[in-house]
Amino acid sequence: MTTESLSLFDADREALTTILDGEPRYRLDQLWKGLYVDFAEPKDITSLPASLRTRLSETLPTALEMVTESSTSDGNTVKWLWRLPDGASVETVLMHYPDRSTVCVSTQAGCAMACGFCATGQGGFERNLTVGEIVEQVVRAARRANEGPTPRRVSNIVFMGMGEPMANYDRMIGAVHRIHGDIGISARHLTISTVGIIPGIRRLTDEPLPVNLAVSLHAANDELRDELVPINKRYPLSDLYDACEDYLKVKNRRLSFEWAMIADVNDRPSDARELAAATRRLRAHVNLIPLNDTPGWPTTGSSPAKVKEFADQLLDLGANVTVRANRGNDIDAACGQLRANHNGPTVTEVPARIERIKRSPGATD
Ligand code: SAH
Repeated sequence: MTTESLSLFDADREALTTILDGEPRYRLDQLWKGLYVDFAEPKDITSLPASLRTRLSETLPTALEMVTESSTSDGNTVKWLWRLPDGASVETVLMHYPDRSTVCVSTQAGCAMACGFCATGQGGFERNLTVGEIVEQVVRAARRANEGPTPRRVSNIVFMGMGEPMANYDRMIGAVHRIHGDIGISARHLTISTVGIIPGIRRLTDEPLPVNLAVSLHAANDELRDELVPINKRYPLSDLYDACEDYLKVKNRRLSFEWAMIADVNDRPSDARELAAATRRLRAHVNLIPLNDTPGWPTTGSSPAKVKEFADQLLDLGANVTVRANRGNDIDAACGQLRANHNGPTVTEVPARIERIKRSPGATD
């Protein structure tokens, strides 16, 4: 544990052993089972004596205080807003599908990447989450999934909530190891999503665990990507593709490209051609996400007809494509809508260069 490790879920097995020093050895197994197998609330781990539960909660409190829990009407998407001990807030989303239950975790409070169309980016950066704050999101969601008439087991984790995982690399990878080793979710069911921070992709390439990599591409030429994903100026596409290629060579895992479809900005035939070329080179899978509304970005998402047309163009060009179902829109839990404290800017100007791109002759070719 580091000095910032304040929460129960920052404590790995070794740290819990130290804390339980003086207790019979089986207490550790009871506590461990309660936390990571049953996903019980610490106060409900009744195999432990009440005095020990009190001592634990005093020395190692949990980090996530629930502010709100919202659920879609079908109950298949649940979003939480949590308050952290220092008052920062983050969100977590649980999504049930017929064949799996996926938790979307945050790695930072806020985000410094400043992608204009993303609500988290619009609000700016607050701080990195600790390993325990990331792990606890999974535990809380798994506890909720277990409840009710049809208990479900969380099988997949996507690092696609608030923040840029690669900008909080050490804690993100610490959480990956804990989620894999302690909660027991296969590395193949973990997906790290990045705006394209190349040193992070390279470090992930050297990790032993075969996790999936998703790159939020949104544009496959540098001019447009510089506008949509500002970090592209530092890590341009040719270098990004090289890093992805090396990841694939070493890991042999599926790479996916996320593409939020913005009407008349990145849904043109030229965009499909550029994207398909990158996709063929990297054998990547494209996830098309119709742009979700956010308060700070007035441009709209592509129409369903346009999304289908774009997907068909990509297929014709030999790309693998999925159109992502838009989960949780009615509770602002969909991609790019996580915003936590809702005190960011309201509608801002569309960057002038994007307006120019929209009006340029190439826009309708
Ligand atoms: N920072 C990481 C992790 C966040 S993942 C990353 O960018 O990959 C969240 C995903 O939702 C990213 O692919 C992001 O680009 C996408 N997204 C952001 N704003 C969106 C919006 N308004 N509509 C649809 N997708 C959006």
